[in-house]
Amino acid sequence: MRRRSNPDLPPPPELPSFTVEPEVDTADRDHEGRDARDGRSGRDREGGERGERGGQGRGDRTRGDSRPPVERHDATGLQRHDAPLDEDAIDPDAAKVVRRLERSGFQAYLVGGCVRDLLLSTGPDAVARRPKDFDVATSARPDDVRSLFRNCRIIGRRFRLAHVLFGGGKVVEVATFRRNPTSVIGEGDTEEDDDLLIRSDNVFGEAHEDALRRDFTINALFYDLDRRQVLDWCGGMPDIQRRTIRTIGEPAVRFREDPVRILRAIKFAARLDLGIDPHVYDAMVGSRAELARAARPRIFEEILRLMRMGGSHRSMWLMWEIGAMAILLPELSAFLDDDEATDGGSIRFFKKMNLLDRRTREDGALDDVVLMTALFYDVLEEAAHGMRDLMGAVNEFLDPVIDRIAMPRRIADAIRRIMFMVPRIMAGKIGRFARTELFLPALDVAELVMASRGESTSGIETLRREALPPTPTREPRRTSAFPRTRVRR
Ligand code: ATP
Ligand code: MG
Repeated sequence: MRRRSNPDLPPPPELPSFTVEPEVDTADRDHEGRDARDGRSGRDREGGERGERGGQGRGDRTRGDSRPPVERHDATGLQRHDAPLDEDAIDPDAAKVVRRLERSGFQAYLVGGCVRDLLLSTGPDAVARRPKDFDVATSARPDDVRSLFRNCRIIGRRFRLAHVLFGGGKVVEVATFRRNPTSVIGEGDTEEDDDLLIRSDNVFGEAHEDALRRDFTINALFYDLDRRQVLDWCGGMPDIQRRTIRTIGEPAVRFREDPVRILRAIKFAARLDLGIDPHVYDAMVGSRAELARAARPRIFEEILRLMRMGGSHRSMWLMWEIGAMAILLPELSAFLDDDEATDGGSIRFFKKMNLLDRRTREDGALDDVVLMTALFYDVLEEAAHGMRDLMGAVNEFLDPVIDRIAMPRRIADAIRRIMFMVPRIMAGKIGRFARTELFLPALDVAELVMASRGESTSGIETLRREALPPTPTREPRRTSAFPRTRVRR
């Protein structure tokens, strides 16, 4: 863990609770998903028996597999858990997709975040969480899926996925089982491969391989709708119960394969109030420099995700603490480190993140432009301090940031303009920009900044009311002028 230069700096008020207990190997398996009894992984055993190499085109698709479903995954190290999920919480369209695939002879399961969130929602003290989306994993190939659903489009060039579309813009993502490409490259190799970064991820596989290629054990659980069972190949269920984030396999390897996983661990810890396994935490610190090698648009998107769901305060604190911020946002990290020079800058910053989270919980996600400007406001203000050319100073500050995290130009332009507007709003000088599209986002930023400094924000609400168009059907917060892009791995 990185040492903070000033021990008086504020810790976030509610750190994720660490509930890691001494390891009890309930699943009789180690971190690699290996069976502790014979030391061979399900992957090894199955791969050895089949002796197949990957490539889009391999894999047992199960159509016509006459074995009863309970026998399908024999000898893969599978643990089944009777864990009925709340039927009402399961998206009916996703359930429809699963059932139609199964009726057509394919394997199909709910997977990933939806299973994790619903399992974390069960139990006496649980906080109910509505999954963001419901994803399906299947043995069917994308073309099979397309032939079963008229409302289906295939996306992705690297790895083809099927999107089944429903009313109201709902998308159920259906992905064919795939396997970790490094297990293909590494098969039979004994030499250690220094460059583990996954650059292409397009190898079809089988259900257990699809579970093992995922990032964290809690994200690798499959839900069998008919049997109301959770399928667990890597000890995810005990980790759900312990509320712990653990990588599948050796953390340092998994973070080197894909450093964005470091940010994902932070996101899940912050958003779901989960502890991080100490071994994983150390690997996050040890692998943080790898973040500089990750695809930059993914980094940008992941920083937004850290801030979107009400976990900005914890996320930014963890990012700073493990040193990931020093790699990705060194300007901000230095600002937070140097509390003396910034006269309590870190206190104001974390207070602002806290307020931002409160707003998100009350009103839904804030505009991405607001999130980004709020993130950089104090440090930008400091960079421009005493400069006559505010825009020039802001540009000079933002140029390397744009480059480092692939911040889209339209967001950077909006930040520049809002940085110009906010001091005027705070001084009560609303000029012609009151009619511009950025006025509402600028009001949001001004409110956060003023509140973080303990100033009254009553004037902002008045301005907001006056600025609203007469029709009351304003989309709550998720604006509009800056549509989100979906970045795929
Ligand atoms: P959220 O609630 O934020 O959507 P999620 O777990 O569903 O969380 P997604 O980004 O939607 O996250 O990814 C879906 C699933 O794909 C994850 O649960 C995980 O199993 C797998 N996955 C996503 N990103 C990675 C990654 N970088 N490495 C390995 N597996 C990943
Ligand atoms: Mg998801």
